[in-house]
Amino acid sequence: MEKERNLRYYIETWGCQMNEEDSEKLSGMLKNMGYKSTLAREEASVIIFNTCCVRENAELKVYGNLGALKKLKEKNSDLVIAVCGCMMQQKGVPEEIMKKYPHVDIIFGTHNAYKFPEYLNRVKQGETHLREIETEHSDIVEGLPIDRKSDLKAFVTIMYGCNNFCTYCVVPYVRGRERSRKPEDIENEIKELIKEGYKEITLLGQNVNSYGKGLEPSITFADLLRRVNEIEGLERIRFMTSHPKDISDDVIYAIRDCDKLCEQIHLPVQSGSNSILKKMNRHYTREYYLEVIEKIKREIPDVSITTDIIVGFPGETEEDFEDTLSLVKEVQYDSAFTFIYSRRKYTPADEMEDQIEDEVKHKRFNRLVEAVNEGCAKNNKLYEGKTVEVLVEGESFKDTTKITGRTRSGKLVNFTGNKCNIGNLVNVKITKANSFSLLGEEV
Ligand code: SAH
Ligand code: SF4
Repeated sequence: MEKERNLRYYIETWGCQMNEEDSEKLSGMLKNMGYKSTLAREEASVIIFNTCCVRENAELKVYGNLGALKKLKEKNSDLVIAVCGCMMQQKGVPEEIMKKYPHVDIIFGTHNAYKFPEYLNRVKQGETHLREIETEHSDIVEGLPIDRKSDLKAFVTIMYGCNNFCTYCVVPYVRGRERSRKPEDIENEIKELIKEGYKEITLLGQNVNSYGKGLEPSITFADLLRRVNEIEGLERIRFMTSHPKDISDDVIYAIRDCDKLCEQIHLPVQSGSNSILKKMNRHYTREYYLEVIEKIKREIPDVSITTDIIVGFPGETEEDFEDTLSLVKEVQYDSAFTFIYSRRKYTPADEMEDQIEDEVKHKRFNRLVEAVNEGCAKNNKLYEGKTVEVLVEGESFKDTTKITGRTRSGKLVNFTGNKCNIGNLVNVKITKANSFSLLGEEV
């Protein structure tokens, strides 16, 4: 029993899909070392916290959770506690964690996560307070084992880092400069996934539209999409995230023309006000963004458009915010990740003088969410009576007599149908649209 308990690991992940994917790699490495996963921290002999620093909230959660681990370590001195991810790439943070939470054994960053098995072994052999952060990114490490959460849908990273330096954002500081994976490596990973039974992949990068820079022979993101579309056995392809300044007509045409590319695009706008977009260093205007949206809607019928929006950026006036609201109404997004601006140390926006009061930020946030939800509900209504293709993912959480899955446009559908079809594509007639999901029956 003791032996088995010693072989369990627990990983908690905060933040974006990139972090999720990094955790899947850590999990893959641990499984290769003979460990099994557990959902209970108390059972684990290795606990990893994979952190995010994009907003303050995520950071505060990490600190709270780290404090709570002290008791577990007191009960079990063999427990190994590791902390990694974006927070660790920030100046002074690893030192602060070691000082305030001496029960942490290993600290490592985003560029050296592939060395985790080595770090674990070193600590097991007696090393204490191991701290290794690389500030310069190394070459892309291929071939790491990945233990994916789903056995139907997989994330495949196509590029790392970001060169954009939006003034509010820490990502370029903690994830380094853009580096693209070779198309052959991406294709091989996808082919392996298909052999394992995966049906849908999402190509990931902070700015997928600048994929390919520096690669020989030269290749654009649209070229990559067309190549991936040729891979036999794959049913659906999605991708994120696209920066509006870089999305090319060719990418829009690829979605229109390639049968496996889903009619869905995530195009973060951040703000509808030209002066705020300028202060954010986004390199596009409201008018340009709306032109791109118009083109997308014209070329790709029934496309679903999603976005990210920040409220309360320094200097945002009521008028600026109204511009965001009117843009949201005009585009009528299918969903949006909405964020209250969070001050991040060492970013230019943190130095800006005209920071917005919390109360104003919260009020604007609520008004924004309302506008987003209105658009989403209107779009969902358009599905009533239509028959759509759904990839069946499993039983519905809320009602186990139903099964659940997503349309090509990414909408969640709960429906009556044959459970034998879990893992397959089926046609579903939509009978009712709710604000955030659809109801239907298999046809
Ligand atoms: N590379 C992607 C997104 C990366 S971060 C892109 O450019 O679209 C995900 C989202 O977090 C961003 O789109 C932005 O809306 C939000 N975000 C980033 N930094 C933030 C901050 N300091 N405060 C609030 N939201 C932030
Ligand atoms: Fe951050 Fe901007 Fe890069 Fe996205 S494009 S990761 S928001 S700096």
